[in-house]
Amino acid sequence: MKVVVVAGGVGGARFLLGVKAALGLPPIGEGPTESPHEISALVNTGDDVWMHGLRICPDLDTCMYTLGGGIDTARGWGHEGETWTVKEELAAYGAEPSWFGLGDKDIATHLIRSRMLRAGYPLSAVTEALCDRWRPGVRLLPMTDDRVETHVVVDDPDADGGASGTDATPARKALHFQEWWVRYRAELPAHSIVPVGADEAVAGPGVAEAIAEADAVLFAPSNPVVSVGSVLAIPGIREALRKTEAGVVGISPIIGNKPLRGMADACLAAIGVQTSAEAVGRHYGSRQTSEDGLLDGWLVQSGESVDVPGVAVRGVPLLMSGVDATAKMAKAALELSGVDVD
Ligand code: GDP
Ligand code: CA
Repeated sequence: MKVVVVAGGVGGARFLLGVKAALGLPPIGEGPTESPHEISALVNTGDDVWMHGLRICPDLDTCMYTLGGGIDTARGWGHEGETWTVKEELAAYGAEPSWFGLGDKDIATHLIRSRMLRAGYPLSAVTEALCDRWRPGVRLLPMTDDRVETHVVVDDPDADGGASGTDATPARKALHFQEWWVRYRAELPAHSIVPVGADEAVAGPGVAEAIAEADAVLFAPSNPVVSVGSVLAIPGIREALRKTEAGVVGISPIIGNKPLRGMADACLAAIGVQTSAEAVGRHYGSRQTSEDGLLDGWLVQSGESVDVPGVAVRGVPLLMSGVDATAKMAKAALELSGVDVD
């Protein structure tokens, strides 16, 4: 069976553990090479950023470390057993940005990636090379090899608000998503969220083919705006999803009108979508009855009454409390997409 998962970082990576388990593969590491199943993850790269001369790909790395058994499970990102010597030394120099956590082990990953990118390798090839070590057991496909970076437009936090007596609108500023998310904890209200560069980007190698050849396509319970939304902003991906013969099923990241861990509600507010499973399902839309909708099925938390016109809605427990619970969720999603899992 060929399964495609549209994924961000933590929510995407945890869900992928469950998809592997649902298909009888070991959740961590590589499965048997003779496995009849192939999982491809289309991973958001809109969070990517250059810092200190290093290319950082948070969502790709979270997927790679989680599936390869190297993640710090408590933090949800970066290596386990991390040390912070380089970060402390950078701070001693007063080097900015100081608000971003770069662990020593993580820096090795970023050094290799940055060196390969500077030598001219595309991100997809670099990712494959890094995965030679981590063996995630899932094909990690960057959504694009092109530079796309999500920016968030806010009222400039550094503008002096002193223009009293005038009705000038406050100065606005576009922050890189990482700065808005990590430095400001998404507390500065976002006027808009823009995947800069997406319009001219091309889907990464293998992305369109994976969607076309899939037996099932699943949207992980990832952030609908800055994870799944960024992937969908790459020209051609939405069209490929509308055309594939596979059933397309999304899993709600929203339970009881709240995101789990994180500030996805701040992103949804910026695009005018309510923080509810129903609103997010309607935002993705129906592949059958709307002109640009994407879903055949939508999994929501059991007990919630959710109506998305033209989409089959099912309720199951959606808390990814462990691999077994996540595997049940993934199995329900695969079944809703029309494939037979056992
Ligand atoms: P990020 O890139 O690390 O922010 O991670 P993702 O975009 O992949 O996933 C973030 C989303 O995962 C958040 O919006 C959460 O609501 C969602 N999430 C986290 N844990 C769970 C869970 O246990 N169940 C569900 N349904 N969603 C979850
Ligand atoms: Ca992310």
